[in-house]
Amino acid sequence: MFCGNCGKEITENTVFCPNCGHRIEKDNRNDVEANKDKLVKLIVHRKKSLYGAAVSTKVHVDGNLAASLKSDGTAEINVTPGNHEVIFDMWSATEKTNIEIPSDCTAVYVEIGLKMGLITNKIRILSIRNEK
Ligand SMILES: [Zn+2]
Repeated sequence: MFCGNCGKEITENTVFCPNCGHRIEKDNRNDVEANKDKLVKLIVHRKKSLYGAAVSTKVHVDGNLAASLKSDGTAEINVTPGNHEVIFDMWSATEKTNIEIPSDCTAVYVEIGLKMGLITNKIRILSIRNEK
């Protein structure tokens, strides 16, 4: 690639041109632009369990309530590629995690289940699978 300011050839992923000090943003911006309209399905399935079956699990993505899951329930949430903060909320127990959504995937499948404790019961992630 070439510096947009002085035209000197520079290596990929250079942030500042070593010749003129110009900040290189063009390629970054193109990547964001290319992924802007792309959505990947985040599929969350709650494993069937008798205990707590009537209580729904709330799924928050980046701070927004995205789905509510009963036992054996499945939700499809459209998300942009990149890193997302996902919170599984059940009773007072919350499980917070970050899920990386690759842009070359069509879907990311997440299976969650109840982890029983003496006082609180938490949701835990059983598996994450990327589908191309
Ligand atoms: Zn330059």
